[in-house]
Amino acid sequence: MSLELYNTRSRKKEPFTPLDPEQVRVYVCGPTVYDFAHIGNARPVIVFDLLYRLLRHIYGETHVKYVRNITDVDDKINARAAHEGISIGEVTERTTKQFHDDIAALGALPPGIEPRATEHIPQMRALIDKLVANGHAYAAEDHVLFHVPSMAGYGKLSGRSVDEMQAGARVEVAPYKKDPMDFVLWKPSSEGEPAWDSPAGIAVPGRPGWHIECSAMSAEHLGKTFDIHGGGIDLVFPHHENEIAQSTCAHGTQFMAQVWMHNGYLQVEGEKMSKSLGNFITIHDLLQDWPGEAVRLAMLTTHYRQPFNWTEAGVREAKRTLDHWYELTDGVETGCMLCADVLQALEDDLNTPKALAAVHELRREAANGEKAAAARLKACGQFLGLLSKTTEEWSAWRPASVKVDAQRVEQLIDARAAARIARNFAEADRIRDELVAMGIAIKDGPEGTTWEVAR
Ligand SMILES: [Zn+2]
Repeated sequence: MSLELYNTRSRKKEPFTPLDPEQVRVYVCGPTVYDFAHIGNARPVIVFDLLYRLLRHIYGETHVKYVRNITDVDDKINARAAHEGISIGEVTERTTKQFHDDIAALGALPPGIEPRATEHIPQMRALIDKLVANGHAYAAEDHVLFHVPSMAGYGKLSGRSVDEMQAGARVEVAPYKKDPMDFVLWKPSSEGEPAWDSPAGIAVPGRPGWHIECSAMSAEHLGKTFDIHGGGIDLVFPHHENEIAQSTCAHGTQFMAQVWMHNGYLQVEGEKMSKSLGNFITIHDLLQDWPGEAVRLAMLTTHYRQPFNWTEAGVREAKRTLDHWYELTDGVETGCMLCADVLQALEDDLNTPKALAAVHELRREAANGEKAAAARLKACGQFLGLLSKTTEEWSAWRPASVKVDAQRVEQLIDARAAARIARNFAEADRIRDELVAMGIAIKDGPEGTTWEVAR
């Protein structure tokens, strides 16, 4: 079997053939760095990390170029800096560092190139000038706008009609727009906002719109056309539709990316995640309570195109599964024995539920004492970005804030004391083990037994 990927553009699963197998080129929209990343941001990071690992396996580690950008110019960043009374640079530096720490804990490999928008302003200006020159964009009141009716086939990716797009985009109908669908490529900056020399002969300094950033950065690092463009399903319209419009019209190409891949929505305990519902979870907070690999495994249990329902029960189950895998692979050498079933499942449009079923089969065999299965279990786990620690490191992990049921701990300590008085040492040991499993350390002294939360 060879690699097949679902293409949002064609709405079907297609065999994947790279434009150049010597250099497979992938672009994924990265974060806008103004605040801690939330678990919705974690999903594309994990999904496309797995794709990156798979492509490296198929085409060779040095034959895959993975670009994931950092959007470090955006009105949300300006607002955050003003709110905190710090510089824009401080906000973007701090948030970029937080993002890197968070996603490293989720087992994501760093992309080959991580371009920053602010380092590609000349490329954006050049792209905008090209669009103006070939009649796809125009300057008006110090803005530059892309003229949507100038492009045949706008809306093809999302498959929406112009009416639907107008409704969906809630387009701000500024008086200077020739058409309500026209979108901003460049806008003037007010005092205190980041500003650069403007394109299109505009005299006042300005800053780029969000969409042009990705067109400029992908062209700079991957070329006018490339293989795969990824992101969350919420980016299909308008962001990706606009990227296609800008890139194909500026370069005169038939397509921007061959394959468009989108991960599904994320919910929390069956509800939409939002700050107003009070169920907004940052990756940073989550990593205080759960190891990153448990978060990663929990997400991989659902196919990337399906909506994913984040639940506490799900991550707890993932943690337990990993406890067992780590126990079975303690001290095992992996060699390079990937399981064909796991690989085949991933080559089938990243079918992680199927891949995990194959890993569970290896777990069953390993539990029955089959040494080769334990080695395969480790190799496959690592391929999925899991089992990257030693069993000892894994067992030593503790949540930052252990939620302890103190009453239950006291009951167990009393029961253990009673067992010891009755000289039932097996029972006393069993209770001690139970306490240890709860993350409790106990200490026997002349005053009796004391306890504390183990770290
Ligand atoms: Zn983008």
